[in-house]
Amino acid sequence: MHQNHSAKGSGSPEIVIIGAGPAGLSAAYEISKLGLTCTVLEKSSVVGGLARTEEYKGYRFDIGGHRFFTKSKSVDRMWHEILGPDLIRRSRLSRIYYKSRFFAYPLDPVGTLWNLGFLESARCVLSYLAAKASPIKPELTFEQWVRNRFGRRLFEVFFKTYTEKVWGMPCGEIQAEWAAQRIQGLSAGALIREFFRPARRSKQNAIKTLIHEFEYPRLGPGMMWMKCQEIVEARGCAVRRNAPVERIEWQPGKVLAVHSGGERHAGSHFISTMPVREMLLSLDPKPPADVLRAAGDFEYRDFILVALIVRGRDLFADNWIYVHDPGVKVGRIQNFNNWSPDMVPDAETTCLGLEYFCFEGDGLWCASDEELIARAKREIKQLGLVDPSTVTDAKVVRVEKAYPIYNDTYKRGIQKVREFLEVIPNLQLVGRNGMHRYNNQDHSMMTAMLAVRNIMGANYDLWQVNADAEYHETGESVGEDEFRAIARTQPVVPEQVTGIRR
Ligand SMILES: Cc1cc2nc3c(=O)[nH]c(=O)nc-3n(C[C@H](O)[C@H](O)[C@H](O)COP(=O)(O)OP(=O)(O)OC[C@H]3O[C@@H](n4cnc5c(N)ncnc54)[C@H](O)[C@@H]3O)c2cc1C
Repeated sequence: MHQNHSAKGSGSPEIVIIGAGPAGLSAAYEISKLGLTCTVLEKSSVVGGLARTEEYKGYRFDIGGHRFFTKSKSVDRMWHEILGPDLIRRSRLSRIYYKSRFFAYPLDPVGTLWNLGFLESARCVLSYLAAKASPIKPELTFEQWVRNRFGRRLFEVFFKTYTEKVWGMPCGEIQAEWAAQRIQGLSAGALIREFFRPARRSKQNAIKTLIHEFEYPRLGPGMMWMKCQEIVEARGCAVRRNAPVERIEWQPGKVLAVHSGGERHAGSHFISTMPVREMLLSLDPKPPADVLRAAGDFEYRDFILVALIVRGRDLFADNWIYVHDPGVKVGRIQNFNNWSPDMVPDAETTCLGLEYFCFEGDGLWCASDEELIARAKREIKQLGLVDPSTVTDAKVVRVEKAYPIYNDTYKRGIQKVREFLEVIPNLQLVGRNGMHRYNNQDHSMMTAMLAVRNIMGANYDLWQVNADAEYHETGESVGEDEFRAIARTQPVVPEQVTGIRR
């Protein structure tokens, strides 16, 4: 299945891009580097998409902290070209917080058993031995996989609560394969053995510490994308904000134009980063019924950030902590001072981001800002992290479609969409929600960069995450190795066990 997107021989391409997140702006950046122009239409009033930076009374915060880390030379080069010295190096500390104690993440044997206390550790060991004696067969789900290897108690403390908070589905409905991918190289047996071999452990920890560094824009990820916008505009591209694409006008053979706020934007080539579900619903005329039905195959997890401004500094050393306590709904807490001190206008204060994972329309999503702020204060007190009387201000941000869900129908949906794209080859889907792929910025950017190369005559199959075509442009090439390397560093995503529907 291969589309031909090439603009060769058809004069200067008129390129329209839907969305000014990392993917849309990377496409514009590549286009402008080639001396061409494009129009970018962005629904929101700010650029950056999920990687934007929100600002409230001089406090800056991300939608979840965004580490800049990539194995791709092309992406790395672009980040440095755009921000230069404003891309700073930060060290990473992120621990698990459970029952008022911090646990190293990834789990470290001595700390884990020590922190759990003698009684709880003994229970964990006993439940591990029980699981070893009578493992659950067959092993189909995440829960079964983890319980067989760690025992019920360790499963409940370190795996169950956080996973269910993030994904909103029971661990008994998630495929076992995800556990195998995620929990590589860690087992309860190894934890216990390592406990008695501290010398070897400390050497391994030293190596891990080295890896725990990442880059970060001095004023948050939005700084990267605002600067990128400035650059592409200076090179002649138009970035229109508050310009949601409502309609995609097509006919068999091609997309003709997109419509936004009553304006028609015609083009020879289109790159879309809008959620694939909405893209299908915007097609005008409606696509065949089976294609339109595919819109229902895609589901999303949504997200709320409650930023709390707190009097005091150095509340904890982590960039973020994972909250495993089942008694609170907050899943992760960011400390934005530790991402970059420049994000906070007053060094005697701290900006925390309490992250709640939810579904659009559920109780959390529909709660008022006041209720959410009251909840955040209550939970932070319950966790014993912060005295709520030191919270001086707060801001709530709701984020739709933060995570594409890998349910039991999305692959069918992708297949349908790919078949339909053959009918309109001048439309390419790229990016996270654009392709319904749970990826980091670098992967989203790379798909966009390759889409531009396709317009210039290359033949990359963006869905296969490989680069099967030899394509060289001004001496730079994106090799298959580069693409494979970033594919290996993307987050692994839980897939729902077939047949179980919410
Ligand atoms: C909590 C969280 C933490 C993350 N942490 C990291 C991290 O540490 N490191 C990392 O690299 N990545 C991280 N990511 C992933 C990163 O945010 C995404 O990979 C990246 O933002 C995807 O870029 P995109 O352009 O494909 O999509 P988006 O960022 O979703 O951008 C799409 C854009 O399209 C616009 N749009 C949508 N519909 C329309 C329409 N109809 N018309 C016009 N415009 C439209 C949207 O408003 C948006 O601006 C994280 C994501 C989340 C949610």
